[in-house]
Amino acid sequence: MIDLKNLVPVIGLEIHVEVNTASKMFCQCRANYFGSEPNINVCPVCLGYPGALPVPNIKAIEKTIRLALGFNCRVRRSFKFDRKHYFYPDLPKGYQISQYDTPIGENGFLEVDFESKEKVVYKKFRIRRVHLEEDTGKLLHEGGQTLIDYNRSGVPLIEIVTEPDFHEVEEVVRFVEEVQRLVRWLDISDADMEKGSMRLEPNVSLGEKLLSGEIKLLDYKVELKNINSFRFARKAVEYEIERQRKIFEKGEVPKQETRGYDETRGITFSQRKKEAEQDYRYFPEPDIPRVELKEEFVEKIKRELPVLPIKERRELIEKYSLRLSDALVLTREKRLLDFYKQLLKELENEKIEKLPQRLANAIVNKKVKIEDWDTEKFKERFLQLFGKVEEDLVLVEKVAREVISSFPKAVQDFKKGKENALMFLVGQAMRQIRGKAKPNTVKGKILEMLRS
Ligand code: ADP
Ligand code: ZN
Ligand code: MG
Repeated sequence: MIDLKNLVPVIGLEIHVEVNTASKMFCQCRANYFGSEPNINVCPVCLGYPGALPVPNIKAIEKTIRLALGFNCRVRRSFKFDRKHYFYPDLPKGYQISQYDTPIGENGFLEVDFESKEKVVYKKFRIRRVHLEEDTGKLLHEGGQTLIDYNRSGVPLIEIVTEPDFHEVEEVVRFVEEVQRLVRWLDISDADMEKGSMRLEPNVSLGEKLLSGEIKLLDYKVELKNINSFRFARKAVEYEIERQRKIFEKGEVPKQETRGYDETRGITFSQRKKEAEQDYRYFPEPDIPRVELKEEFVEKIKRELPVLPIKERRELIEKYSLRLSDALVLTREKRLLDFYKQLLKELENEKIEKLPQRLANAIVNKKVKIEDWDTEKFKERFLQLFGKVEEDLVLVEKVAREVISSFPKAVQDFKKGKENALMFLVGQAMRQIRGKAKPNTVKGKILEMLRS
């Protein structure tokens, strides 16, 4: 018998990302289908006509390798494509060209940073595989009929499969955010969940936490589909954990199945029992020769791989004492980080106290507008704002010191408890400052000096 207290969530992810190449995976049709009239970016290959021959897109292979390297995977120099069979109207060939036992990337991990009790903690989640396949057409259900748009058919699609390493919803959300960030960073996709260029399928089960601390997986899992935003991902997984917990409370075990998420009702519902692997009748794609990569091809991708966002953040946090939340904003886009670093360098000699934090703050809170990413304008505004504040603070300090030494009687009175004496000192200081600082700032400074 499982003690209900020892049940913990176990989650593994399957993430699909559409690759932003110019052409599709196995033909010359345009890959970007957004906003196109239906069924115009199509040809015999992506419509699955008999006899049409697929030719793999080397750019898509290159981008998959780049992502696999970003995930610290082992990259295969020799791999093949395989046919995965199933019947559905969005798949005109009756099979999808995918990769079965020779995924391009394997055995990697992605490290993610979290805020925990004022500290930044780092956790690694294992990536089982990264492979390349083709997207299907798109079904549109409208007014009682179903329409099919094949513009999406054959668009390069990367599938990322993690190990079941997640035990909290928060971990899932941060991980998927980081995948999205990395995919954008490496220019692989716009990875937009709402548009469907990034799709998430979480597998959820409850496992048994053993005395050793190890978590024993139970013999089932539930795959969740139709999640098209971060918000729904969180809700769907939370709902599913609770649903399964209630089944265990009744003394039963949840069924292995695929469930859809109904966003209006906020629940998951049964879609189908999951097919077993052999139902797909995988076999090697006979029309595409095995791909053998030259070592130099992979080495070049490796050499050109940019520093990854997690590493950039670690540096921002350790070198400049930035908060994780600010570092997360600055590493949302590579050009934003470059912008920050460039400004930091250019403002180095301005002697602004806490420059890295202030600059980050100004960008993150949009205190200074990033008008068309013009560094000169930004610098000017930033200096106006903070250069001047610096000057004024120096003035306040100088005046406060003078007032304290010029009016020893008032200082003594204040120390005996006369509040009025403080107001007198502030008044004297304000006369010299002539509106260049607020009375509260001046009062604060004088108080600080009197108490130290
Ligand atoms: P299948 O053979 O049914 O496709 P896999 O072992 O290939 O199952 O795993 C598919 C996904 O399910 C992976 O993301 C994996 O991490 C996840 N997964 C595997 N076992 C579990 C489990 N017990 N609970 C939750 N997720 C799991
Ligand atoms: Zn085509
Ligand atoms: Mg599988």
